[in-house]
Order: sequence, then C-alpha cells, then structure tokens
Amino acid sequence: MPAKPRYRAWFESFNNPEERYELDEVVYSDSQGGLLQVCHDTKELAKTPADEWKRLFEERSHRNVWPHGSGVWGKKEWVLPELHSENVVSMYEGNTNLFWAERYGRELGLEDLWIKLCGNTHTGSFKDLGMTVLVSMVKELRARGKPVRAVACASTGDTSAALAAYAAAADIPAIVFLPRGRISTAQLIQPIANGAVVFAIDSDFDGCMEIVRRLAEREGVYLANSMNSLRIEGQKTVGIEVVQQFDWEVPDWVVIPGGNLGNVSALAKGFDMMLELGLIARAPRILCAQAAQANPLYLSYQRDFEVFEAVAARPTLASAIQIGNPVSWPKAVAALRRYDGVVEQATESELIEEAARADRTGLFNCPHTGVALAALRKCVAAGTIHKSDRVVVISTAHGLKFVDSKVRYHNMEIEGVIASQPNPQIELPADYDQVRERMLREIELRFGDGGSGGGGGG
Ligand SMILES: *Cc1c(COP(=O)(O)O)cnc(C)c1O
Repeated sequence: MPAKPRYRAWFESFNNPEERYELDEVVYSDSQGGLLQVCHDTKELAKTPADEWKRLFEERSHRNVWPHGSGVWGKKEWVLPELHSENVVSMYEGNTNLFWAERYGRELGLEDLWIKLCGNTHTGSFKDLGMTVLVSMVKELRARGKPVRAVACASTGDTSAALAAYAAAADIPAIVFLPRGRISTAQLIQPIANGAVVFAIDSDFDGCMEIVRRLAEREGVYLANSMNSLRIEGQKTVGIEVVQQFDWEVPDWVVIPGGNLGNVSALAKGFDMMLELGLIARAPRILCAQAAQANPLYLSYQRDFEVFEAVAARPTLASAIQIGNPVSWPKAVAALRRYDGVVEQATESELIEEAARADRTGLFNCPHTGVALAALRKCVAAGTIHKSDRVVVISTAHGLKFVDSKVRYHNMEIEGVIASQPNPQIELPADYDQVRERMLREIELRFGDGGSGGGGGG
C-alpha cells in the first residue's frame, strides 16, 4: 500500500468556506450555483520551509523523473497532492521560456520588459497547464470506477485543442463544442486530428457553454471548462514559474489578457500561495487586458467593480477572449483587488497594430498577446507603469496558431483597420537586374543608409 499522502486538497465554495467537497466528487458549483475553488492544507505545507520548496521545485525542473519534469507536476504537492502519479497525464507542459524583450521594451519606453511564452507548449497555448490537471483527475476517477463517459468543453479554440490532446493521450473520449466559423484553422484542426468529437455550433462561445453545461448536468460527461476549478490549479503555476525563473524575485507588474477570467484568477492564486508559504515577501501588481469588443471586466473596473454586467461579445481578432459572460468574474475581481489591479482595453486596430509592432522586433504574437501589449503601452503612456519597472507579459498562445489574422493584416484585408506597417511579399520575375534594383531600393527605404552604413558596392 502506498503511504497516505501527507498533503491534502479539497473543493470549497468560493463564497462559503463551510461548504466542501472531495476532489473526486463530480461537482462544478456550490449549492447556490456559485464558483468552487480548490483549497490546500497550507498549515501542513507550511511545515516545509520555503527554501526547501524552492530547492525541490528547482531540482525537479526539466528532469525526466515522472511526473516531476513538467512545470505543473514539479509542484505536485501544491497542485493535486493526493493524485497517484500513475494517473498523471502529462506532456511536459510548463517550463516555458521567459525572455528579455530588449528592443521592443525600448520602443515602449521600458528597460526591463520580459515575455513569458506560454504558447511554446504541446498544443500552443497556456491551456495545457490546466488541462493536464483536469484530465489526470478524470483518469483517476475512471480508475476508481466512477462513471465518467467522456470529457467535454465549450471553447474559443485553445481549450478544445488542449482537451483533445490530453484526452487522446489518456484514451478518454473527448467532445468539444466550438462556435462555428469563429476560430482559427489551426485551432480547429487540432481536436479533429486528435480524434475528439467536434461540434461546430451556430452560436458564440456563451451559447456553446449553455449546451455543454446542461449535458454535464444530465449525461455523465465531465465538464472541462474553467468553471471546473481543477484547471486553475495547473494554471496557477505560471506565476510561480516566473518568480522561479527570476531566482525568486517578484516582478513589479504582470500583464495578462482576460476572457473567461480563469487565467487571471489563477495567476493571483499562485502568488497567494507563494506569499502564504513565505517563498516571496511582496506581491506584484496585475494588469488585466481585454478586447474592447468583449470588455465586461473593463466596464466593471470603470465603476470600481461595484457592479458586474455581462455584455454581448462582439467579434474580435482576439477570438479566444470573445466572451461576454465570463464564468470566473468573481474570482478575477477579488484577485485584482488583492493585487492592486488595473484593467485596460484594446480596440481591434490597437491590438493588431501592437502585435505587428512587436513582431517587428522578433516576437511573433497571437492577437491576445497583442491585446496585452496594447494595454501595456497605454499604461506606460499614462504613467501607471514606470520606465524602470520590471514587467512580465503573459503571452498566452503561439503566434503560429493565429496566422490567419496576420496574413490578413499584412495583405491589408482587415476591415476597419488601416495597417500602418504591412509587409506583403514582393512578387517579381526571375530577372537579376530587376531583383537587384528592387532590393537596393527596399534597403534604402526601410533602413535608410543601405543597411551597413557603408553604401552599396559591386
Ligand atoms: C483562453 C485564452 C485566453 C483567456 O484566458 P481566460 O482564462 O479565459 O481569461 C487568452 N488567450 C488565449 C490565447 C487563450 O486561449
């Protein structure tokens, strides 16, 4: 018999600490229909000194000792301590690179700007961090003989890609509901390739969510949306990882795009645990960025969060955050209050221009990261974020998942957007003199003095 795990975790009502459930219960909301959260026995965790946790997390990182090499499962005691390691479904998610964006930072007027590339992962978005935890729990439930027929989610594209991949790896049936015609080609082909049952519904995300919620209530399919707080446990590791990558120094600001608002809540939860367990002594501030086309959190922030009203989300190039009725808003509001948060928004033109500007410095941003960067620019201009502040931008997906919008930008095909720096390909016949002449002209035009400063030469 394996020893009883020393650490414990359970579901708890976000509004009522008295109401608790075991993590292997199939339950998504509290008795009043409110959100659940996963709580940990931090008294027990605190018996291990902070330096010991740091050493353990560093020692495990990037190694191949199952399952601790993953950025999520290297922190297993803080994530799902009681899960049997044999039921972990992992593709070595996390441990994504965090780098100094020197040139782009300079353009924004920042000296210490860093990008956390969460899109450099198995399915190309941060959703892997949460999905590894949820699918592992489903594998454990099935191993314990609980009746889980399938896992299902509504998605704006990245959740379904992650669910399909992890479920396929574990041989668990996956069902995904997508708003028809509103996600990128790359996002659509991922669950198709991974063998999920893919429904394209004539509705938006919020409409898909309605359907899947009812199916989860009645038909024995396990709900994989972020109202399922297991996912937050994986996603919260991103903040821990950032701090670990800075040798346990806390940045001044973390910038993150928000749609359903699970990720910003998760970010704060990771910092909560590090503060509570003494790994860090101060908190960062959080800037949450929304698309102006889907901005209920921004509107609420304008009124000091006194009210929160759903909006009808309008189409946006940042399609993964086209959500008008975000499930996790109560957690997000609480998180932003704790972390002296700011909410900013970006229009279509601002988000795609900013992504293009940053791409020019060697990045390759998804539109959601474009939203975050445009919000950052505004906060620097307003003096909210200072020149010398250390700023980390959470880049949520890989730019390669969203080439459709980039192609349209550079071909100047986006309605309502006058591209300021389109860079379409130059089509020429195979004629040396024509190519030479054009090349020299382009260098002169774009780089001024012939690139090297020394002029031409033959
Ligand atoms: C899901 C997603 C978001 C938004 O995260 P929420 O938890 O819904 O706020 C942002 N960017 C990308 C690329 C996403 O896939």
